[in-house]
Amino acid sequence: LMQLYLPLNFLGSIYSSLRTSLVDLEQMFRLMEEAPDVTDRPDAIDLPARLDEAPAAAIRFEHVRFGYRPDREILHDVSFSVPAGGRVAIVGPTGAGKSTISRLLFRFYDVNSGRVVIDGHDARDYRQAALRAAIGVVPQDTVLFNDTIGYNIAYGRRGASQDEIEHAARLAQIHDFIASLPDGYATRVGERGLKLSGGEKQRVAIARTILKNPRILILDEATSALDTHTEQEIQVALRTVSAERTTVIIAHRLSTVVDADEILVMGDGVIKERGTHRSLLARDGLYAGMWAAQAEERGEDAGQAAVGA
Ligand code: ADP
Repeated sequence: LMQLYLPLNFLGSIYSSLRTSLVDLEQMFRLMEEAPDVTDRPDAIDLPARLDEAPAAAIRFEHVRFGYRPDREILHDVSFSVPAGGRVAIVGPTGAGKSTISRLLFRFYDVNSGRVVIDGHDARDYRQAALRAAIGVVPQDTVLFNDTIGYNIAYGRRGASQDEIEHAARLAQIHDFIASLPDGYATRVGERGLKLSGGEKQRVAIARTILKNPRILILDEATSALDTHTEQEIQVALRTVSAERTTVIIAHRLSTVVDADEILVMGDGVIKERGTHRSLLARDGLYAGMWAAQAEERGEDAGQAAVGA
């Protein structure tokens, strides 16, 4: 029995850590299939997955209440919408409920009450596989396979041609780096191959997502600081991938949310403040305080930074 128990326990712990960190979603799907919390309705419908099949999708959270356990509600009456092609950023301290929102969008869990609406339909109306195909994620920390860098990019869409892979790599600003490697796209990466830096891994994730071409994008911004130059390059690549897609950014650095259509400031499972960067600064509340604190960390004067934005 122990022999059976140990591997199951091991899988269970991988499963829960994957779920908690939202690491590699596709890997997670396979695990989810083995342990589904949510199931398809018999009459579940499809939705177009790719931006070349349909315009970007609209998202709406309507009075969403949710808890991982029945005795502890995590999100309390959360409502917001992201128009098709729009950009909403979620900020707030650790534990505020930011990642929970992205997990509900992905329908890893069902809401307790209220609705998550995508393109006018309740998320529970869709086939899960169709819903998840329509959402791309650039995670905080990308898992690379012990395979070639070309394979790792092509993972965004199986069957992609070499031209398509290179095009995505160019847009993600990682093509030149790959081309400079002795084995180019055939270079092996991962534990048993070339180690990529945090910035390079993020670019692989961006290239994957460009290939996948989803109608909805979740950016889970890396918490670890990249150097300023890498950071700026990544920002350019992220802008390329998010252009025209409906984008939800879970942001740790406020400098990346300045141009969001709406910024949601989460705290204790509720939206404490919302608005554009300018309106939130003018309000002089939580967001303005966070902005001042981060500007100080960057060694800027908060007033200056606000004027520059
Ligand atoms: P954030 O992304 O803002 O840091 P999360 O959405 O991850 O916050 O977490 C919100 C709350 O939900 C926290 O109190 C956290 O402990 C709890 N939580 C997150 N994931 C789980 C889980 N899988 N099971 C139980 N509680 C969880």
